[in-house]
Amino acid sequence: EEPAAAMAVPQAGGDELVLLKRVGVVDPLSLDDYRAHGGYSALRRAFELGPAGVIREVTDSGLVGRGGAAFPTGRKWQATASQPDHPHYLVCNADESEPGTFKDRVLMEGDPYALVEAMTIAAYATGAHKGYLYLRGEYPRALARLEHAIAQARARGFLGDDVLGQGYAFDIEIRRGAGAYICGEETALFNSIEGYRGEPRSKPPFPVEKGLFGKPTVENNVETLVNVLPILTMGAPAYAAIGTERSTGPKLFCVSGSVARPGIYELPFGATLGELLELAGVRDGLRAVLLGGAAGGFVRPDEMDIPLTFEGTREAGTTLGSGVVLAFDDTVPLPRLLLRIAEFFRDESCGQCVPCRVGTVRQEEALHRIAERTGLAAADDIALLREVGRAMRDASICGLGQTAWNAVESAIDRLGAYE
Ligand code: NAD
Ligand code: SF4
Repeated sequence: EEPAAAMAVPQAGGDELVLLKRVGVVDPLSLDDYRAHGGYSALRRAFELGPAGVIREVTDSGLVGRGGAAFPTGRKWQATASQPDHPHYLVCNADESEPGTFKDRVLMEGDPYALVEAMTIAAYATGAHKGYLYLRGEYPRALARLEHAIAQARARGFLGDDVLGQGYAFDIEIRRGAGAYICGEETALFNSIEGYRGEPRSKPPFPVEKGLFGKPTVENNVETLVNVLPILTMGAPAYAAIGTERSTGPKLFCVSGSVARPGIYELPFGATLGELLELAGVRDGLRAVLLGGAAGGFVRPDEMDIPLTFEGTREAGTTLGSGVVLAFDDTVPLPRLLLRIAEFFRDESCGQCVPCRVGTVRQEEALHRIAERTGLAAADDIALLREVGRAMRDASICGLGQTAWNAVESAIDRLGAYE
């Protein structure tokens, strides 16, 4: 196995944890150990409930997507299950690439069988017999562990022509990304699997209707799928009692930057930003926190009461995204940081549509001028940034272009970055 650096998981394996409970405890290379720690009880429950019963539980649990967009998972599954066109496909989006996001990596490396089991349940519920796991190319350890888990599950009848003797066929194929951020966008990801250039398609039609190979497809993030296991084992009402009314369940947060204990933290939705940063050991001189990654937004140190829920962050005029919390202290030069974010978007834009292809270049140029001028912005540069940002947000085909100005805008408006 490749010598990847061990990743900090400050809370791994605690009794009170739901998603991380096996991480750091279970042997990720042992199917028997996974079963000894409760593994495959959710799939057995799924077979008892039947496909419609599973979708009902997932819907009643209130689970929404953990990739960042928070779309209701039960609705997505129901929409796919009811499509008359066949075959149906399941795609697990494991192309985790948002700067500051590393939660799916920890789940896949620490508890790979959980993802294999969860994918089997999702496919069973939505009438799919083939699942693709699209894995970020830079995750070799996750690849090795998932390949091993899939092979073991297949050899032992947990995947294959007759899963657990239930007459249901399902198997998983892993596809690796090749370093393009845009291939995490679901339709670009489909194109990548199909062998085409990784460019997003226009939506609608949504993947539930026309997805991979033009067929009805459920596409879910790793963390979203793993949540299905506790939903089935504890039941939807108990799961929905965790968190808040509109953001149910546990959530993984990726905390990094100017903190003493960077890593993954599992908390029920509803904890405040301040409580999370307290756990991670926030350092003196905090200047700003970036929520939601490069596509997210900055908040100030006096905004620590923001509840970490989808509705709470929205009401506060920011976003939770996939759960990125990047802390910056006052030693970090903001103009350089913003320029780096702009470089990232310019680099990762697929170039398919003009607002994003040209806008990300113009944005970077303006931020470069500002950074060169010792971080002070001329009024016309700010005006240009706003105009370009508006065009990208309103007219880009996909989320990359639509969000490429978020962080810069919030730095100007909330942090007074160039004053
Ligand atoms: P989106 O809102 O367009 O869609 C979210 C999901 O809901 C998609 O699967 C979409 O197909 C589905 N959907 C939406 N409307 C639907 C409908 N009417 N019927 C059926 N299905 C429907 O968002 P998106 O562009 O897929 O994702 C954007 C998010 O991705 C952002 O919040 C960003 O934070 C996040 N993101 C995450 C990462 C990461 O590494 N985790 C990287 C980049 C971006
Ligand atoms: Fe490509 Fe950007 Fe257009 Fe998305 S918004 S399709 S990344 S050019």
